[in-house]
Amino acid sequence: MTPNILLILGGGCAGLSLAMRLAKGPMPYEKVIIIEKRDVYQNDRTWCFWKLDDAHFSHLAAREWTAFRIANGQLETIVDCAATPYQMIRSGDFYEFALTAIKRSPIIELHLGHAITKIVKTSQDGWVIETDHGSFSGSVVIDTRPDAPEDTKPIVWQSFFGQEIICEAGVFEAAVPDLMNFLPTHDDGVAFSYILPFSETEGLLETTVFGPDILTVDDLAERQNRLVSRITKGRRFDVRRSEYGALPMGAVRTEIGADSYFKVGIMAGSLRPSTGYAFQRIQRWAEACAISIRKGSGPIGHAPDPWRIRMMDDLFLKVMRDAPELGAMLFYQIFKDVRPDKVIRFLSDQGEQSDCSAIIFALPPYPFLRMLAKSVTGLIKGTRI
Ligand SMILES: Cc1cc2nc3c(=O)[nH]c(=O)nc-3n(C[C@H](O)[C@H](O)[C@H](O)COP(=O)(O)OP(=O)(O)OC[C@H]3O[C@@H](n4cnc5c(N)ncnc54)[C@H](O)[C@@H]3O)c2cc1C
Repeated sequence: MTPNILLILGGGCAGLSLAMRLAKGPMPYEKVIIIEKRDVYQNDRTWCFWKLDDAHFSHLAAREWTAFRIANGQLETIVDCAATPYQMIRSGDFYEFALTAIKRSPIIELHLGHAITKIVKTSQDGWVIETDHGSFSGSVVIDTRPDAPEDTKPIVWQSFFGQEIICEAGVFEAAVPDLMNFLPTHDDGVAFSYILPFSETEGLLETTVFGPDILTVDDLAERQNRLVSRITKGRRFDVRRSEYGALPMGAVRTEIGADSYFKVGIMAGSLRPSTGYAFQRIQRWAEACAISIRKGSGPIGHAPDPWRIRMMDDLFLKVMRDAPELGAMLFYQIFKDVRPDKVIRFLSDQGEQSDCSAIIFALPPYPFLRMLAKSVTGLIKGTRI
C-alpha cells in the first residue's frame, strides 16, 4: 500500500512557500516530505516586487523605495511608486521565516542534501523518488524543480549577474533604484543595469541581458565590472555576495499534470513571461494550493494568465528577440508615457483592460503588427515563431 504522503520535490521558494502554509493546520496527508538537494540555505537571491494590496510577505522587506529610474542614454524618467512601493526581500530572511514555520509542524519533514536522481511510478499508482541518499515513497508529488536548460525553449533568456557591494564612500543615490538603465550595445540582446541602493554606501549592482542564449557569469563579467567601476568611481569597495540567474522567459509551459503528479515553478507558470518576476505569483499559487489541499481537492498548478496578457507578453518578447535595438526605447516609452499605477498593476498581474490599452497605445504599432502577422502565419503553418 502506498503511504498517504505528499512529496514536494525541491525546497526553494515554491516548495517552502507551500509547506509553510500546510504547516498552519490539519491536512489530508500522514506526512509531507520536502526533498532538497542543497545542504544549507544561504542568502542566494534578492526578491523584489511592488507592494500592491495583495502582496505577500511585505513585512519581510529589508528595503523599499517610493520611486525608481528608467534610463536610456541621456534620457531618464523617474517613476513615482509611493502608493505601491518597490520592496526587496532577502531570500535568507524568507528561508529563515519559512523554516521556522515548517518546524512547528510535526508531520512536515525537510530532507536537505538529497539530490533527486529518478522518479518512478509504482504499480499501485504511488511514487518512489530516488535520491543520492536513499529513496522516498508517497501518493502525491509536487515537483518544483526547474527543467534542464537544454529542454527549455524560451523566447528569450533573462541572464543576470549581480554583486552586493559596500563602498568606503557614499556612491549610491539611496532613494532611487535603477530598475532599468540600458546599455548602448545590444549584440547579445537587450542589456541593462539594475541597481538597488541600500544606503549611500551599500547596494546591489546587477547586469542583465534579455537575449536568445543563456549567458554565463563570465559572459556578463566585463559589463558588470564596468558597472561597478562607473558607480564606485575608483573608491575602495568590498563585494559582500553575488547572485546569478538565467530565467526562461516565454517558455512553452510544461504540462502541469493531474491526479497525483503536479509540476509547478518557473517552467510551469510561476514566471511572468515578460518580466521574470515570480515571487508574488508563487505566493498566490501556494496560498490557493494549500486551500485546495486542505479542503480535500488535492494540489493545483499555477493558474494561466489571462489571454490578453499572454498575447501581449508573447509579442513583446518576440519583438525584443528579433529587434533588440528597439528594446530600450520600448521599455522607456512605457514607463515615460503610461501612468505609474497602470504600469505597476500590469507588471504585477493586476492589469485591467484599461491598463493594457494604455500600454498598447504608448508603443509604436509597427514592430508589434509585423510580429503579430508573423505569429499568425506561423500558427497557420504550424511552426513556432
Ligand atoms: C538570483 C535571482 C533573483 C531573482 N529575483 C527575483 C525578483 O526580484 N523578483 C521576482 O519576482 N522573482 C525573482 N526571481 C525569480 C524567482 O522568483 C526565483 O527564481 C524563485 O526562487 C523561483 O522559485 P522556485 O521554487 O520555482 O525555484 P527555486 O527557488 O530555485 O527552487 C527550486 C529548488 O529545487 C531544488 N532542486 C533542483 N534540482 C533538484 C534535484 N535534482 N534534487 C533536489 N532538489 C533539487 C533547488 O536546489 C531549489 O532549491 C529571481 C531568481 C533568481 C535566480
